[in-house]
Amino acid sequence: MFNVEDIRKDFPILFRKVNGKPLVYFDNAATSQTPQQVIDAIVDYYSNYNANIHRGVHTLSQEATDLYEQARYKIQAHFNAKFSHEIIFTSGATHSINLVANGFSSLLKKGDEIIVSALEHHSNIVPWQMLCERIGATLKVIPMNQEGELVMSEFDELLSENTKLVFVNHISNALGTINPIEYIIEEAHKIGAAVLIDGAQSTPHIKPDVQKLDVDFYVASAHKMCGPTGVGMLYGKEEWLKKLPPYQGGGEMIAEVTFEKTTYADLPHKFEAGTPNICGGIAFGTAIDYMNRVGFENIAKYEHELLEYATEKLLEIDSLKIYGTSKNKTSVISFNLEGIHPYDVGTILDKLGIAVRTGHHCAQPIMDYFKIPGTVRASFAFYNTKQEIDILMAGVKKAKLMLS
Ligand code: PMP
Repeated sequence: MFNVEDIRKDFPILFRKVNGKPLVYFDNAATSQTPQQVIDAIVDYYSNYNANIHRGVHTLSQEATDLYEQARYKIQAHFNAKFSHEIIFTSGATHSINLVANGFSSLLKKGDEIIVSALEHHSNIVPWQMLCERIGATLKVIPMNQEGELVMSEFDELLSENTKLVFVNHISNALGTINPIEYIIEEAHKIGAAVLIDGAQSTPHIKPDVQKLDVDFYVASAHKMCGPTGVGMLYGKEEWLKKLPPYQGGGEMIAEVTFEKTTYADLPHKFEAGTPNICGGIAFGTAIDYMNRVGFENIAKYEHELLEYATEKLLEIDSLKIYGTSKNKTSVISFNLEGIHPYDVGTILDKLGIAVRTGHHCAQPIMDYFKIPGTVRASFAFYNTKQEIDILMAGVKKAKLMLS
């Protein structure tokens, strides 16, 4: 049974005060909060198992290795990857994307085309621009419409025999739009292009099945899924991960090293140079267990209720405009009050204990499309409540009064 009051008890931070007011945390799309179970896993690791992994014969090292590899199995099961070695631990979605972009620089040639979407986070634009500059490939962009949806007929037009890669986020961080990735994957595969889906914003809300999606690469960050910062994952189909060269050189990723030649370790270690974020990886596994216990169906249903409630309430405020009005969206509301800078609204809300994000949300092309400097973004998680949305409402009204 989903009971939000019980769930809130798992998150100690939700009981702190900010500026003398109870914290209302609506910046979940930037980072989610951490349940006690995950905090305990971190404390447990450093209290009982702290050791370097894979190389040690001593007990601590073996126990830490087992915990770390168990976390990889949990992630494999969660995303339904065929093999555990298709899961690469990274420092987060950005690292995962750069790993793939770097690898493709040796597989692409001048004249090849890469397609991204107008709804991307900078971390899914800049690495591909850098790649295109290096090899003389061309970056093409699927445009968006006023609702904040991708224009799929334009995507069809962009696909050609030159298209080698397509990169799209599953859900937009700035607007919350859920993109039609099933269609994108299917159409891209028809012409032999590989597809990377950026799941940084989807994985807190839904449970993707990478085999069912038939996606080539899928990336996520633990800190958006109730896990710690500095750890994330790259899923890659075995055949692609075998084709891609290693990203970084160092310890752990080698089979044999001489000054004449080095051979590389098998997957997944080929992509995991150096001492990884061992504790982070283990706690990522705990976070996935936690979210599955809450249940992704419960999460989706409850967050949708919050989204509908907040949208209806906020639209009662005249001069408030919501950006991203697709029917197919998650619990993110990006808005502005006419004539008022989002930063000023955010600052007043903070004084009232309400944490929202203001600015371009690392998605400047979206802001350029709407011809605005940024938005106020309230993003809801399964531990938020309607009462908190009422507090936000009162705060926005107050900000409007003070700043108009
Ligand atoms: N893609 C999207 C859609 C995101 O929202 C984010 C984080 N804001 C990232 C990628 C990058 O994630 P990280 O900073 O954890 O690497």
